[in-house]
Amino acid sequence: MSFQDKVVIVTGASSGIGAATAIKFAEEGAKVVLVGRNQEKLNNVSKKCGNPLIIAADVSKDEDAKRVIEETLRYFGSIDVLVNNAGIGSRTNILDKDVIPVFDRIMSTNLRAVVVLTHLAAPHLVKTKGNIVNVSSVAGYRVFQENVAYCASKAGLDHFTRAVALELAPHGVRVNVINPGPVRTDIVENMGATKEIVEATFERLRSMTALSRVSDSDEVADLILFIASDKSKAITGSSIVTDNGTLLKGNSMSPLEG
Ligand code: NAD
Repeated sequence: MSFQDKVVIVTGASSGIGAATAIKFAEEGAKVVLVGRNQEKLNNVSKKCGNPLIIAADVSKDEDAKRVIEETLRYFGSIDVLVNNAGIGSRTNILDKDVIPVFDRIMSTNLRAVVVLTHLAAPHLVKTKGNIVNVSSVAGYRVFQENVAYCASKAGLDHFTRAVALELAPHGVRVNVINPGPVRTDIVENMGATKEIVEATFERLRSMTALSRVSDSDEVADLILFIASDKSKAITGSSIVTDNGTLLKGNSMSPLEG
């Protein structure tokens, strides 16, 4: 699966799925653009990415999103693949006093930033007949308790993916979304959880899967590369689930009593 000299933008590349994805694209010969907020973490990832372009940016800010596309074009001259991976989680209930500001923050990163980046990158992807891979979640398929904002953002992202896939298909641009179940990354820690809570959360997530396991970032990164590659030339507007059977197990209680 060579991406020799393809220009690939990965948002949220400073840790987890984004870091693993950027490293794998670089291993396949891509010119990688690492986008994230933490310069030090980006520098660490960049050591495994050949000669990447590093852009410290908060994708939820329009001016930063604009800078991501402009700097990529100035440095590499084109865009072949956009991986919209940056995302955040938070505990939210509709009865919470502060639900609205938290909802706004989650939607700005998980959905609005993807819309802005897609809008800015699309004309350039049309030129290269490139493609977009969005990173959603099984939370786009089903709801989880205390996750009002996250679930809404990911369901919105899934539907946005399909709408844009339909619009860009005549231009030869594919747009897809990956829906992971639990993946061992910094996501829970980045929500402010202690080490103990992080461990307990991943243990609970593991118990919610049919396969009784949590994925690592490389598994999701491999799938992202496959979907971005020519091997997937027939795939557009698809949501690809990689969840260790979380959706299967969701409502799997026997209906039979006794
Ligand atoms: P992570 O916290 O390790 O990585 C997310 C990255 O996005 C971080 O580098 C973070 O700094 C960056 N980011 C967040 N907001 C940003 C912003 N405004 N601007 C720029 N960068 C920003 O978590 P991860 O698990 O690797 O998450 C990657 C994606 O996978 C997210 O969209 C997440 O919703 C999704 N996902 C994760 C899991 C899981 O169990 N880890 C499951 C399903 C979906």
